[in-house]
Order: sequence, then C-alpha cells, then structure tokens
Amino acid sequence: MTTPYTITRVGDAYLVSTRDVNWVLVEDGHDLTLIDGGYPGNTVDVERSIRDIGHQVRDIRGILLTHAHVDHLGGAARIASRHSIDTWTGPVEVPHARRDYLQQLSPARLPLVLWRRGALGWLLDITRLGGTDRGGIDQVGAYDASRLDLPGSPVAVPTPGHTDGHTSYLIPGSGVLVSGDALITGHPVSRLRGPQLIVRPFSHDRDATVDSLDAIASVDAGTLFPGHGAVWAGSMRDAAGQARATAGPWRP
Ligand SMILES: [Zn+2]
Repeated sequence: MTTPYTITRVGDAYLVSTRDVNWVLVEDGHDLTLIDGGYPGNTVDVERSIRDIGHQVRDIRGILLTHAHVDHLGGAARIASRHSIDTWTGPVEVPHARRDYLQQLSPARLPLVLWRRGALGWLLDITRLGGTDRGGIDQVGAYDASRLDLPGSPVAVPTPGHTDGHTSYLIPGSGVLVSGDALITGHPVSRLRGPQLIVRPFSHDRDATVDSLDAIASVDAGTLFPGHGAVWAGSMRDAAGQARATAGPWRP
C-alpha cells in the first residue's frame, strides 16, 4: 500500500507532501535529518521518498518530531525502531511521544469535524493509514535547544498550543521554517488555501496556538514547509498574519 506524494526542494530541504500529511528531509552531503514521518501507513512512503532524493534510510542521522500526533509520529516511530535511529522532540513533548498521555482528538469528539465537507473521505483515508493507532515511541529524547547537532543544523522554535510541547524547526541555510501543525496551508477538512490555523478541534489549546504565531512571525525565513498543505513562499510575518486572520472566535 503506497500513497502518492509530491516532493518540493528548497535549498537543502525537501517537503514531501501527501494529501493528508507532510514530512521533511534535510540534506547535508551524505547525511539526512528526517522531520516527522507521516501516519503508520506512510512508513513505506517515507522510505521511498528518501530513495527518490538519492539517499538510503541509513543516511538518516536523526529524527525530529514537531509533535506527537499519530500523523507525524507514526511513520517516524517505525523507521526509528527498525533502523535504530535516535529521535528527539521538545522537552515538554517527550512524555506525550511516549504516550504517558494523549493530546489528540478522541474518536468520541470526531463529530466536531465530521460535518465538514471532505471529512468522511478524510476519515476513511486516515483509518487506512493507521490513524487509530495509539502507540507512541519509547526511544525519544528531549533535544538540547542550544546545540541541535543534526544535518542542516535545525534551530528549534517552540510553538506550543496545538500540543503543549509543539516545536517548529528553522533550517537556516535553506531559509525554510518547518511549522508542523502550528501553522498549516491546507487540510482535507478545510476549504481555505494558504496560511491558516488547523481547525479548532485538532488543537489542544487554541489560544496558545494563536499566541505561538508571534514566534513564527519573528522567524527569518522565506519558505514555509507546513505539516499539512502546500509549500508557501513569503515572509513568516505575512504567513502568521494570514493565519491569525483565520483564527477569530467566530471561526471554527
Ligand atoms: Zn497535529
């Protein structure tokens, strides 16, 4: 079972984009950093995308997670355990990644999104991809923000709210911000296109998610690689401003 994707390269960073979720590869010579890894069912797609850019899975020096939702952690956890690759996320996110608790929309609250156009197709799709898997990742550590020694020299930009320990990552040499679900540009259950907040029921703390747009606005990058949706070019201040406009109290 494979899922189609497109790959967009900006500098040394590659956005791999499926209909439902994205992941990112950062290249430094022979070495790679993988940021997020799709659903459990995307594991083969992540491996294929690595070959598509001329690498092998063994080139991965480390995996970073923006946050521990199943659509970002699932494939990454499987690749990490199969190939014994070290995985890091924000210190606050580590217990979430280990599944000491789960800050994810529960099946009981799914009706909050199922009324949306496209939601039923999305639900079928993510069920096929292992979206109901509640497993975590045991071998995960907290990154040292002052010294993230991985290919591409990622810089952690804490962006809590979507989950308590969500982190975005700046790839300085490529001018790319990997924003995870702190700021997205599209989603199968959203009719909006362009920078936006993910629909409200998916975020643990919506107010904190809005506050984290300030952190994104202050990042010096010209390209946004979101967790969902297409690549977006422009200033992070503009991206954050557009997303803020989608976040009014009357907006879902
Ligand atoms: Zn998420």
